[in-house]
Amino acid sequence: MQAAMIPGAWQRAARGAGLLADDGSIAATIFAEMSALASATGAINLGQGFPDEDGPREVLAAAEKAIRDGVNQYPPGRGMPVLLEAIAAHQRRFYGQFVDPATEILVTAGATEALAATLLALLEPGDEVVTFEPYYDAYGALIALAGGVHRTVRLRSPDFQPDLDELEAAITDTTRVILVNTPHNPTGTVLPRETLARIVELAHRHDCLIVTDEVYEHLTFGVPHIPIATLPGARERTVTISSGGKTFNTTGWKIGWLIAPPPLVTAILAVKQFLTYVNGAPFQPAIAVGLGLPDAFFTNAADDLRLKRDVLAGGLTQAGFSITRPQGSYFIVADAAPLGFTDAVALCRRLPELAGVVAVPITAFCTPEHRPEYASLVRFAYCKRVPVLERAAMQLSTLASTAAAAR
Ligand SMILES: *Cc1c(COP(=O)(O)O)cnc(C)c1O
Repeated sequence: MQAAMIPGAWQRAARGAGLLADDGSIAATIFAEMSALASATGAINLGQGFPDEDGPREVLAAAEKAIRDGVNQYPPGRGMPVLLEAIAAHQRRFYGQFVDPATEILVTAGATEALAATLLALLEPGDEVVTFEPYYDAYGALIALAGGVHRTVRLRSPDFQPDLDELEAAITDTTRVILVNTPHNPTGTVLPRETLARIVELAHRHDCLIVTDEVYEHLTFGVPHIPIATLPGARERTVTISSGGKTFNTTGWKIGWLIAPPPLVTAILAVKQFLTYVNGAPFQPAIAVGLGLPDAFFTNAADDLRLKRDVLAGGLTQAGFSITRPQGSYFIVADAAPLGFTDAVALCRRLPELAGVVAVPITAFCTPEHRPEYASLVRFAYCKRVPVLERAAMQLSTLASTAAAAR
């Protein structure tokens, strides 16, 4: 049976969003293509954003202990009390935000499930969702799956901060959700308070909800992360989403959470209980341990990553890319145009052969109509060990000469 003959909401939505090929098969994403290229060629994979070393010992040990202690069955639907308490304590400690662990928090299978359940719960077919562009690729797919209409506000180099007038123009009475992401993947931009305040003001003016993806909340470099929910007037209309994966180098554990007013949590729980119901019992108390680590852990994690950013940024600059130094996240955007490459997709396909490095084109994070504006930009992940980044930097440094010779 041809996949095209299989009916269903996902097929319909995915076809509309361009996620399926004409025969109904899943469109090969550039991510899958680049990961396959990395393993086929042995190139250094700076394409996918996962760390190549383990996180804090205490966190790993807590998971092992939980398994030994028999924490291996379904946890409660909202999450294990120890984790709910730890998330509430974390919000209080870092942001002075008081949340009720019993009614205002929901533990999810990663930030991804939190996003999926939230959009499925809050959107009626045809409702508009405004995001920045480029955007984390799951946003487009999940908005489509929920029957929503995706509108974007472009972030442009060199600083990738949104233009506030464009933001204002994009948000209208048909906007149901403003989906914020700070620190931002893929650009590394961190939104300042004045931009967040404008978003809150627009959400009030047009009576929309704010959903904010803050999975890189602890990974900023010299600029503060400000949760939009802590701004005046924001809390009652905001769903804050985060995850332990990026903070504790445990991306494979998929322990995420959301924080929202009780009626929103209840509505989202109604969807979530039939997606995964629950997940990761022994990992929940382990992430609770992580959230309770001393401040030094969090500052060191950011300082380590900042050093890695600087190693890769130096290498890319030396290689002839023009870069935007990210203020947070795992990623750096590099413009290949100064090297004579105007098509980042073509460059990324050849990069393993030219420099033994894999990266992804920024167009993978863009709507088809806006891809030409981002055509020469490449995303590199720097959440890798320093020697790996140094080797990548060294290999990339010959790119200008190899590229000239190859042309
Ligand atoms: C990695 C990432 C996620 C996914 O988080 P999980 O906890 O692994 O589901 C969501 N949003 C952004 C912006 C990310 O970079």
